[in-house]
Amino acid sequence: MTPIKVFFLEPTDRERRWLRRFSFSNSRQCPNKNSGCDAMFEIGEADILYTPDGYIDATGRLMPPKSDPRWPKACAACGRAFDDGDEWQLFSRQIYVRPSDGFRCTLEDAPPGACWNAWWIADRRSDEQVGCAWMVGPDGRSLVVKCPDGHDWMIDARARNCTMPNDDHHHCWIRHGRPEDGTLHVDKVGKTCAAGAGSIQTGKWHGFLHNGFLHE
Ligand SMILES: [Zn+2]
Ligand SMILES: [Zn+2]
Ligand SMILES: [Zn+2]
Repeated sequence: MTPIKVFFLEPTDRERRWLRRFSFSNSRQCPNKNSGCDAMFEIGEADILYTPDGYIDATGRLMPPKSDPRWPKACAACGRAFDDGDEWQLFSRQIYVRPSDGFRCTLEDAPPGACWNAWWIADRRSDEQVGCAWMVGPDGRSLVVKCPDGHDWMIDARARNCTMPNDDHHHCWIRHGRPEDGTLHVDKVGKTCAAGAGSIQTGKWHGFLHNGFLHE
């Protein structure tokens, strides 16, 4: 595998929106997937509405009427037609940007190597709540990196094979440097446990984040 450069994504004040029809699996299970029926139609971008504490405010969005022809008619997985009792949702995802070239994406469709700060995780932690138990790193951030198989690696979280499950303040992965300048590096040099060698095993992919690159 060619090493993949890790780059930082910053949030924008814009979101991508979809008209979404779906059913909860307990009301109607989709025969073709492990959940309810679901279909989305992308309708473009809009400004994000925020609550006074800076969170995204989903309640203020105006949903188009049910007569809008852009609402999906049938489940994307099994083709079953929706009826009026299925769910109607104006679905949205925040748009992020790579400052160096203006590349934009959502966190769900971000390419491998994308890194972002899941700021909402650290937002309500105290200064003492730093460590894998709170998924907060030494700089007060909670950094996530998209792996080549699409897995979101939460670097500051506890590893599944952590050997110090009763210690909240260490980090199973020690990060150094910064994603913003291409120096992010993850290893076991620091206050850590005996799990692994600083690599990430996602189930489908195993590799390292060394000197700003993901590699096997
Ligand atoms: Zn279905
Ligand atoms: Zn650990
Ligand atoms: Zn390496």
